Amino acid sequence: MAHIIDGKKIAAAARLDIAERGRAFLEKTGVRPGLAVVIVGEDPASKVYVRNKKKGCEEAGLYSEVHEMPADTTQAELLAKIEELKANENIHGILVQLPLPKHLDEKAVIDAIPPEKDVDAFHPVNTGKIMIGDYNFLPCTPAGVMKMLEYEQIDVTGKECVVVGRSNIVGKPMAMLLLHANGTVTVCHSRTKDLAEVTRRADILVVAIGKANFITADMVKEGAVVIDVGMNRNAEGKLCGDVDFENVKEKASAITPVPGGVGVMTITMLLENTLRAAELAVKG
Ligand code: NDP
Repeated sequence: MAHIIDGKKIAAAARLDIAERGRAFLEKTGVRPGLAVVIVGEDPASKVYVRNKKKGCEEAGLYSEVHEMPADTTQAELLAKIEELKANENIHGILVQLPLPKHLDEKAVIDAIPPEKDVDAFHPVNTGKIMIGDYNFLPCTPAGVMKMLEYEQIDVTGKECVVVGRSNIVGKPMAMLLLHANGTVTVCHSRTKDLAEVTRRADILVVAIGKANFITADMVKEGAVVIDVGMNRNAEGKLCGDVDFENVKEKASAITPVPGGVGVMTITMLLENTLRAAELAVKG
């Protein structure tokens, strides 16, 4: 049976470290790292994420603000809000909670956040920097996965790494980080032919699809490390991942659960990025 990678334990250790560094930074500079989260509309899942982000900041001693805007906010109003936060010296990181209501242009909003305050690392400047391996921020979910692998002393060098999913926020940057860590990386998606044949090659399998229990035991190599990014609701409304955890854990050497795996690491890396943004801003 697989070792269960405990995201909560790893996140707690990382958050303690962030809190200590934040405190030292405040003592040295008089500046408390600050995050502003903008949420448009009433999406219940987004509201939970935003609440958790604020709570994470508070627990780590970082400053945070939540700006709630109504669902009928116009593009101009949202861009004006970003301008206001851009100019605010107490705010080092700006995050606009996605997805936005359909009438808003997500790409234009991401582009409006200055790269040095883009703690989600979604701005094209930051994604480009990740591509060349010279970056200030990493997108929170893939960064959280790398932190877990590092904590568990799972060396990526030379390993067959398979990433299922190619979104801009998870799959693509995940593949890039595994490549930077010297993995041999394959990226799969909905058009991949014989997905199981590819996933069975993986020493490290990272799954970010958004389909409950999609990856079954027959798709996993004996002894593989399985990282489940998915966050879905099953038929009973229970939170579950993209991996059939109960069966895959009998075959993998290590596996992340959902909940209690990658999700908690994502917010942790947001705190890390906020601290980093403040360090960069104050250094000038
Ligand atoms: P997207 O919907 O943007 O991307 C899904 C990807 O999965 C696409 O690349 C798609 O391929 C691929 N895919 C879909 N169906 C299949 C299939 N049958 N076989 C192979 N590939 C397939 O999702 P995200 O990347 O934003 O999120 C993925 C999951 O991770 C979701 O459950 C989400 O909730 C979760 N998530 C969790 C986070 C966390 O903190 N734990 C953070 C962010 C996301 P194609 O490109 O061809 O359409």
